[in-house]
Amino acid sequence: MTAVRRVLLPAPRSFCAGVERAIEIVERLLERHGPPVYVRNQIVHNTHVVADLESRGAVFIADLDEVPEHAVVVFSAHGVAPAVEREAAERGLDAVDATCPLVAKVHAEAKRAAEAGDTVVLIGHEGHEEVVGTMGVAPERTVLVESAEAVPALEVADPAKVTYLSQTTLSVTEVEQIAAALKERFPGIKGQGAEDICYATSNRQAAVAAVVREADLVLVVGSANSSNSNRLVELAVEAGVAAHLIEDAGQLDRAWVEGARTIAVTAGASAPPALVDEVVAAIGAVGPVEVVERPVAEETQEFLLPQRLRAAGPDRGR
Ligand code: SF4
Repeated sequence: MTAVRRVLLPAPRSFCAGVERAIEIVERLLERHGPPVYVRNQIVHNTHVVADLESRGAVFIADLDEVPEHAVVVFSAHGVAPAVEREAAERGLDAVDATCPLVAKVHAEAKRAAEAGDTVVLIGHEGHEEVVGTMGVAPERTVLVESAEAVPALEVADPAKVTYLSQTTLSVTEVEQIAAALKERFPGIKGQGAEDICYATSNRQAAVAAVVREADLVLVVGSANSSNSNRLVELAVEAGVAAHLIEDAGQLDRAWVEGARTIAVTAGASAPPALVDEVVAAIGAVGPVEVVERPVAEETQEFLLPQRLRAAGPDRGR
């Protein structure tokens, strides 16, 4: 008789409130204005979400130059630097901001700290869109740090006037380590540990941490450029468990499944829940499975849409 394989589903997993809001903004604009609706960068870091919106008339662009005068353009969930908002206004574009409110909160903290004369030390990954946007809030007063090892080399104007903030989608453990190194170097530094890491990122990490020791394989559904998804893979690997980031069931390797008795399947905050169902079905096609939900937290967070899109009926614009 074939042994039954266990599939553990850590929860929360998949879409967060910020991603749902960003997608809904594009959907409502498509409904109300009709295509094309321009979106600066990927609305969220997931190729399936982007392809789906593209098929419905969203046009993803890297530069505002590509947007015709007066057209609707959406800023992605990762946020933009104020210079981009200014450029959109100067070009007369109808900009709609899908920045996650939790990223906007970090922007507000950066602005406040810079206005108070502090150097902002941003913990984050160079080149990530969220980091580019947050650095752009006060570019002349912000420095980036990517690891605890890089802390000694940081250059700040006044070591007594420093605030640290972080990208929202990092590893909680790693940010705590970097924050500890910053506190050692700048004893008066202001900042709140890993508090800028959003609820969705920390919940998905806690959910994987709760099951990782029972699993001999962890599959994370998400795109290669999804920061929070990559952190889930790292968490499993650091716990000594084989882990893979996969876009969808099409990237599932049958040999991984055959070699595992207990498989945890999760998804980053930008990956649609249906993709997880498809991965579970693909595992089930290899042999019999028992599927077990393993929740560690309940998420009730919701974010309001921008005012102009809340009411039913046509979008009246700015
Ligand atoms: S992962 Fe966190 S910061 Fe990013 S959109 Fe979701 S809730 Fe917002």
